[in-house]
Amino acid sequence: MGTIVIKFGGSSLSTTDKIKNAAKRIIAEKENGKNVVVVVSAMGKTTDQLLTLAGEITDRPAKREMDMLLATGEQVSISLLSMALTEMGAQAVSLTGWQAGIITEKVHNNARIVDVRTDHIEEILKDGKIIVAAGFQGVTEDGEITTLGRGGSDTTAVALAAALKAERCSICTDVTGVFTSDPRSVPKARKLASISYDEMLELANLGAGVLHPRAVEFAKNHSVSLEVRSSIEDEEGTVIEEEASMEKNLIVRGVAFEDNITRMTVFGLKNEITGLPSVFSTLAANQIDVDIIIQSQTDSNQTNLSFSIKDKDRQEAVDVLEKEKEAIGFDHIECETGLSKVSIVGSGMVSNPGVAAKMFAVLADNGIQSKMVSTSEIKVSVLVDSVHMKPAAQHLHDAFELGVLEETAAK
Ligand code: ADP
Ligand code: ASP
Ligand code: MG
Repeated sequence: MGTIVIKFGGSSLSTTDKIKNAAKRIIAEKENGKNVVVVVSAMGKTTDQLLTLAGEITDRPAKREMDMLLATGEQVSISLLSMALTEMGAQAVSLTGWQAGIITEKVHNNARIVDVRTDHIEEILKDGKIIVAAGFQGVTEDGEITTLGRGGSDTTAVALAAALKAERCSICTDVTGVFTSDPRSVPKARKLASISYDEMLELANLGAGVLHPRAVEFAKNHSVSLEVRSSIEDEEGTVIEEEASMEKNLIVRGVAFEDNITRMTVFGLKNEITGLPSVFSTLAANQIDVDIIIQSQTDSNQTNLSFSIKDKDRQEAVDVLEKEKEAIGFDHIECETGLSKVSIVGSGMVSNPGVAAKMFAVLADNGIQSKMVSTSEIKVSVLVDSVHMKPAAQHLHDAFELGVLEETAAK
């Protein structure tokens, strides 16, 4: 019997009525004669509320304790959904991440899944029961509870789908699919019928919160058949696949954006050769992701190093670098906050020079200054002041005609 994995996000489970609605959809899938594994997030804004509670107690909570706290959110939704399914006459069992065999590395708050042990799940499926597994959480080999990073339930779903060789993994959410940009901020955004793993991975990494980046990475590496669709509407969603079968010729497929970015500058690095690796290895050792990097020489032959990081990592980045100040050898650190990153993504860029030039022209024509730039084969990102984030996304969406169907869009 084929297996399918269906994931429901927090906004699709924010009330008990929505939980009952999810239960109805799950039962309909089960009635199609499939083994059904459901993965759920915490209800509504529960995870944010738990973070606020911790913030009322301390600015620097221990990462292990944060995982203990945040993992409780998903435990509420698995049990309630399992009850709703039982109430409707189905047989269902809720499982925490560790009961579901989600083994992670020993990293708190942003752990990667290293193994999925499906024996227990497979036993339960043999009995014909529906499994309701908690997303976002796992366990280390030595029994510590970990979480996978915000939005990580998507990754639990894809990892389970890969391990169980599921026929498909459906991510059910509060939009009807993957759009050319976030439809909440770019009203002209259009739903894509399909998108390639690589383009989706870039969009997700660049702030398109509709899918957790590691979920896409996992799906690509294990060829999981992945779709994003509405948790309420019946309409077709977006398929994420090896090579997007439709709209192949579009140079730019989507616009993504992300706020709460800090530009940090380390002034007066005394020895560039040793200083550069020391700065980045110190940050990496503390799991701080660095994005765009710019290095410049000063008149006095010293180096200034600017890089962008997420605001949430700012304090820790300053703390760990200041602690190593003598060893690294630098003068001082300054931070510029209130920045956002806006990116255009599309696999057609590889063979179309001039896309970056057009992007800068569009921003300049609208009086938007680019503060840092980075490019790869299939994306161009710029840092802008946060007030310019949404207007920049809208102007770029218009300029690259993303709201227009393939047949009429500029190639
Ligand atoms: P869930 O709670 O189901 O995990 P999320 O809030 O994590 O839902 O993801 C869905 C949200 O992603 C949408 O409400 C939408 O605002 C946002 N989003 C950002 N970029 C995109 C995009 N390109 N296409 C669709 N939705 C997007
Ligand atoms: N509940 C977690 C979060 O809000 C995980 C998820 O929703 O995927 O980030
Ligand atoms: Mg999500």
